[in-house]
Amino acid sequence: MKLDSKIVHIGVCTDEKTGAISTPVYQSATFRHPALGESTGFDYTRSQNPTRKVLEEGIAALENGAVGLAFASGMAAITAILMLYKTGDHLVVVEDCYGGTYRVIDKIFSNFGLTVSFVDGSNIEEVAQSITPATKAILVETPTNPLMKIVDIRAIVKLAKGNEMHVIVDNTFLTPYFQRPLELGADVVIHSGSKYLAGHNDLVCGLVVARDAELGASIRYIQNSTGGILGPNDSWLLIRSMKTLALRMEKHNQNSQIIAQWLTRHPKVVKVYYPGLADHQGKDIHDSQSSGYGGMLSFAVDHPERVKQVLRKVQMIRFAESLGGVESLITLPAVQTHADVPIEVRERLGISDCLLRLSIGIEDASDIINDLEQALAD
Ligand SMILES: *Cc1c(COP(=O)(O)O)cnc(C)c1O
Repeated sequence: MKLDSKIVHIGVCTDEKTGAISTPVYQSATFRHPALGESTGFDYTRSQNPTRKVLEEGIAALENGAVGLAFASGMAAITAILMLYKTGDHLVVVEDCYGGTYRVIDKIFSNFGLTVSFVDGSNIEEVAQSITPATKAILVETPTNPLMKIVDIRAIVKLAKGNEMHVIVDNTFLTPYFQRPLELGADVVIHSGSKYLAGHNDLVCGLVVARDAELGASIRYIQNSTGGILGPNDSWLLIRSMKTLALRMEKHNQNSQIIAQWLTRHPKVVKVYYPGLADHQGKDIHDSQSSGYGGMLSFAVDHPERVKQVLRKVQMIRFAESLGGVESLITLPAVQTHADVPIEVRERLGISDCLLRLSIGIEDASDIINDLEQALAD
């Protein structure tokens, strides 16, 4: 089956008895043992639940990995992955990672003796130089948030090969529909399912896929031991939402290309960051590892006052955090999503007071443009 068909058929007719097209919600905390020492494969929902299992196998199939796991949020998924490491281990992480990832590493895992180097993932020399004998993993996002920097996944995999290091890719922005890091040699993929996979700004969830069964079993052990699982209802909602992933991603992609190009011509816009633009840094690498550009773009305006004006004047586009939903949203990364990144790092990265981030929805592109036009006007 082609990917778009696979997406649609996650969880179809899993219940042999009734032939239900949609996977049932198994809202049960516990399961009867057939006999002493026997199990149906389900004993207690923290360990495994039939609805969650359908979702987990579904995302594993889409990412082409051995084991999928569903968590209560993207941060619960990232936390479970970080628990693979121990005191004295060192991680290399892209410096412009999701703000919550930065925070959990910098403020929580540092308490347990995990050390980290935050690096410019688009500079492969810098990544190579930051590796120490204690380095156990390289964690990247591509495109990064909010500046859409491109990280060469194959080059990162090459660096890690033979060094007993995991390559972990947060694939939230592109989803397996546009990018499948495990096929490029990465070991683990992470998703905030709250974004494109759920796609409707109504669900918080996280997913992990491991390329091989052994690593998958280690993460499964952590998932069961620490308990940050996704409940059956939310698992069902995510399966339900993912059915339209291909259609949504195509429309996000189409709209974003149109709007990115329109913004580059706008007199009040100083710079546009979108990997679909011909002059976007790293576009060649992006094109070699992904089949689309997604729905996220950032742009810098002429003045911090303009930022305030835009956030005040947008109408259909809502001023709200998060991304990846059918509704267009706009945020100010310096204040909202990246507040936990130290100011000097933010400034060096270019996450300035003039930078706005758009999550382009699936509305008609002309309505998004009209809203931006009136919001940017003097
Ligand atoms: C939102 C997000 C996360 C965190 O996910 P939650 O579901 O909000 O916990 C992690 N990584 C990226 C790239 C994100 O956008």
